[in-house]
Amino acid sequence: MKEDCIFCKIIAGKIPSQIVYKDDKVTAFKDIQPLAPVHILIVLNQHIESVNEATIGDETSLGHLFTIARTIAEKENIKQSGYRLVVNSGAGAGQTVFHLHMHLLGGKHISNKLV
Ligand code: AMP
Ligand code: ZN
Repeated sequence: MKEDCIFCKIIAGKIPSQIVYKDDKVTAFKDIQPLAPVHILIVLNQHIESVNEATIGDETSLGHLFTIARTIAEKENIKQSGYRLVVNSGAGAGQTVFHLHMHLLGGKHISNKLV
């Protein structure tokens, strides 16, 4: 745990959040400023700043982000209608919280324009 990291604090239960899923590798909770009817963050329990800092040893956890995203999409009833998974890496790509996480967005039509 990194003491000044907001997501580490959420994972540790030190600040409140709306957690929708948790296991030994990832924690998922509702984004505080949702950009879609369903906007959930799936966060590695381990503090890794971004994709740039991930190593081969993290591959199992990184892969787990995808299968849990699909599981949550199913639970939120957006598996069939569609959803977008986003991982921002670096400030230049819009990353604001430097603890690796995946956005799960859905529940509305999402444009095919990526940027
Ligand atoms: P990113 O811009 O990819 O780093 O995404 C960070 C996301 O974290 C943003 O969508 C924020 O709205 C969200 N966020 C920041 N603080 C919190 C918090 N305390 N609880 C839930 N989501 C948060
Ligand atoms: Zn952290």
